[in-house]
Amino acid sequence: MIKVLVNGACGRMGTAVLRAVTDDSELELVAAVDRKEGIEVGKLIGEENIKLKTQQNLKQAIEMTKPDVMVDFTNPASVYDNVMTALNLGVSPVIGTTGLSEEQKGQIDELSRKQKVPAFIAANFAIGAVLMMTAARKIAEYMPQVEIIEMHHDRKLDAPSGTAITTAEMISEVRKPMKQGHPDEEEKLAGARGAEINGIPIHSVRLPGFVASQAVIFGGLGQTLTLRHDTIDRTSFMPGVVLACKKVQGLEGLVRNLENIL
Ligand code: NAD
Repeated sequence: MIKVLVNGACGRMGTAVLRAVTDDSELELVAAVDRKEGIEVGKLIGEENIKLKTQQNLKQAIEMTKPDVMVDFTNPASVYDNVMTALNLGVSPVIGTTGLSEEQKGQIDELSRKQKVPAFIAANFAIGAVLMMTAARKIAEYMPQVEIIEMHHDRKLDAPSGTAITTAEMISEVRKPMKQGHPDEEEKLAGARGAEINGIPIHSVRLPGFVASQAVIFGGLGQTLTLRHDTIDRTSFMPGVVLACKKVQGLEGLVRNLENIL
């Protein structure tokens, strides 16, 4: 059995992970950590026979319950410290929280290798989103002019989304940085053309009603091609999270993106 600690247990994603871990016969939920202390896990997920309560102190929770894996769905401000704590205590992080900088990911990889404690991060654990990203990379070989529109619920703290950043990075593997639009175009309102990664414009929509959606629009002579993925329910992420919990300990350093463990 792989022992799992869920960090951010009371959140939208954390609660879904508690359920997914509890339902899997190869995983054992040993601890639930959250800023909100003393919440009964059994009540959170409607399983009265689970007697765990949420704890606030990650280090203490790890020392008491000795998990193999920590799943982190907290927030961009705390994920880095959580991951460093886990690595220093020999626990493999499965990181779902978005918003880590490239530099921070580099430092996580370094500590993971030094400690010989593998780690995994994915900006999106939904298989449909992974397929959207890999298809976008393929299409960009033939249609390099592309813009990304990502749409999320209005409680999301970071913009653009990790999925949009990863999509732009994957497209950048096959196309050179280029300026799109008219060379003399002028923004009459700041931000009208969106943010940019390697010249790929990214537009972020934040509205109640969305969970996580993204459209990748390619333009060519006389034609456009749109890839679109919609997460309708957070259960879409769970098979990917469960798979990462089972595979992370066999990896080396920090491995990125679900496509690399499928
Ligand atoms: P949320 O606000 O519903 O939940 C976050 C939880 O973390 C809350 O319960 C909060 O109390 C807790 N928390 C905050 N700081 C903490 C800390 N220092 N220690 C312990 N607990 C802490 O957020 P959410 O919608 O569940 O999203 C969480 C993160 O996951 C976001 O960064 C989001 O972008 C990301 N996300 C990733 C994927 C993916 O597939 N990788 C999918 C959905 C969301």
